[in-house]
Amino acid sequence: MISVSEAGRLGGIITSDAKKISSKANGALGGRPVNAVLNDDGTVKGCNTIYRPKGRAGEYAPLSLNLYRGCGHACAYCYVPLVTEQKRSEFNKGATVRSNILNMIERDAKKYHALGIKEQVMLSFTSDPYSPEHHIETREALKILAKYGMGFCTLTKGGTRALRDLDLFRKDRDAFATTMTSLDESFQKKWEPGAASPDDRIAALKEFHNAGIFTWVSLEPTLNAESSLAIVDATHEFVDLYKVGKVNHVKINHGIDWEDYTHKMIDKLNTLGKAHYIKQDLQMYLPEGYRNEMRPKQHH
Ligand code: SF4
Repeated sequence: MISVSEAGRLGGIITSDAKKISSKANGALGGRPVNAVLNDDGTVKGCNTIYRPKGRAGEYAPLSLNLYRGCGHACAYCYVPLVTEQKRSEFNKGATVRSNILNMIERDAKKYHALGIKEQVMLSFTSDPYSPEHHIETREALKILAKYGMGFCTLTKGGTRALRDLDLFRKDRDAFATTMTSLDESFQKKWEPGAASPDDRIAALKEFHNAGIFTWVSLEPTLNAESSLAIVDATHEFVDLYKVGKVNHVKINHGIDWEDYTHKMIDKLNTLGKAHYIKQDLQMYLPEGYRNEMRPKQHH
């Protein structure tokens, strides 16, 4: 899901000493007052669990949090183990919950609430929020974010496992997203052996869309250009936004004409009238002056 260049961001550690706004407010919703400080760069002092991803990770969402370590989806292209310094065999065994994570989320959410920050928090970068092994904490985390007035988005390859939490999603605040690499299950299983099938991910997208929730698809990594173009054909009626990227650090990268792919993709998306964002790695192929809004308005 992420670029290895985001390694420094994955732990959620952002440093800035520039204090801009200090807010003492009853961020605990009836609890003790919270002293929260907004830094010049938009980060909140002391918030390392709900953090503001930068660079390529920031293209996904304005805020993020990571509940788990490891992921049983075992995607062959996943470089999170490099970032979290886990053996791939260990990482692929499945998700384990980060120690005390729900309390840390609540501590940070109180500060964001005290500062009136309501942006979407995306789950997640270092694992999948709906991995096969562990995902009950995802539901608890979403409840905490909602309690403190924050929006949220889940980006998952867990397919219909996510439907358990559909009741928590708010039409005017939240979003459901899935990564798709192919419509062909045999191809998908080769690259993402533990993840939900393409059909199951599509079923989840349809359910969220039918419930009025904003949906988007991450076409990153692009493992096969024709496959990603076919995904748009198959899903555009129930997907609101596409985020399009390439693939790095795997050999398949060398077989794709990225310029041709970018042009075909934007032609298709514009013909279908679909909102889209072309990520940094492909922006060099966009026509001059192309409107490429990183965070298009979600229809709520
Ligand atoms: S779903 Fe899991 S294994 Fe696959 S890329 Fe995401 S974190 Fe890595």
